[in-house]
Amino acid sequence: MKLKTFGTMFVGAVFAASLVACGGSASSESAEASADAAEGKTYTIATDTAFAPFEYADASNNYVGIDMELLDAIAKDQGFDYSLNPVGFDAALQNVQAGQADGVIAGMSITEEREKIFDFSEPYYDSTVCCAVKSGSDIKALKDLKGKNVAVKNGTQSQKWADSIKDKYGFTTTTFDSSDVMYQDVDAGNSVACFEDTPVMSYAISQYADTNGKEGKDFAIVTQVDSDSEFATPYGFAVNKGENAELLKLFNDGLANIKANGTYDEIVNKYVKSTK
Ligand code: GLN
Repeated sequence: MKLKTFGTMFVGAVFAASLVACGGSASSESAEASADAAEGKTYTIATDTAFAPFEYADASNNYVGIDMELLDAIAKDQGFDYSLNPVGFDAALQNVQAGQADGVIAGMSITEEREKIFDFSEPYYDSTVCCAVKSGSDIKALKDLKGKNVAVKNGTQSQKWADSIKDKYGFTTTTFDSSDVMYQDVDAGNSVACFEDTPVMSYAISQYADTNGKEGKDFAIVTQVDSDSEFATPYGFAVNKGENAELLKLFNDGLANIKANGTYDEIVNKYVKSTK
C-alpha cells in the first residue's frame, strides 16, 4: 500500500488547496435544476493514484488526466464542488462502498458484477485489457508465459483476465496495488509481463517514445483481448447502488453537455493523440 500513503499525504498537503473545484454558473435550465439540488454540497470523489492518461500526479503534484479534466469540466458545467481522494483503484471502490466517498472516477470498467453494487454513469471511454512485456522480451505470445510469473493489479479487470487464463497458459501472478509499482516489478525482472488496460499501456509506451525515455515505459504489448470479449468494457463514473442518484444525474447531464460543446473531445485529444 505504498501509494496509498502517497495519495493520502497529498490529499492533506496539496489537494485540499488545489483540487477543490468550484463550479461556475450553470447555463441550461436542467443544469440549473441539478445545480440547485447540489447547492452547498461538496462531493468527495475517489480515484486511482497512477493511471495515466486518466489520473496521475503531474510535476507539481496536481492530479491531471482525462478523468480529472472530465470531472472538472462536468462539475463546472453542472455547478457542483468536489474534493478528490486519490487512494488507488481498489481502495477507491472500497471508499465509495464504505461511504467515505460519494463517487469514483478511476478508469473504472462498467461490468455486470460491479453493476450489482454500483450505479454507473453513461460510458465515457472504450477500453480493452492487454498483456505487456519489456521491449526485447522473448515473450511473444500468451503461450510463452508457461512457468513464468506475471504482475497484476488488485481488483482490476485485467487481473480477472489473467486469473481466467493462468491455468490454461501455466503462469503464476503477483498482485500489486498500483500500476506504477506493477510496472516496476516487470522492470526488475521479477515478473516477465504485466496485465493492464490497453489505453493505459499504450499511453505509457507512447510517452516513452515521445520523451526519449524520460517518461513512460519501454514496454511492448504482446496481445490484447478482442473488442467483443467480456474484458473489453468501457469506463464509467460510479456511485453506490441506489445512493447518490443526484450526483449520477449531474455527471450524466454534464457529460452530455461537454460532449455536445466539444470540451470532451478537446480533453481526450490533449492526452491521446492518434487513436481518438
Ligand atoms: N479498468 C480497470 C478496471 O476497472 C482498471 C482501472 C484502474 O486500474 N484504475 O478494473
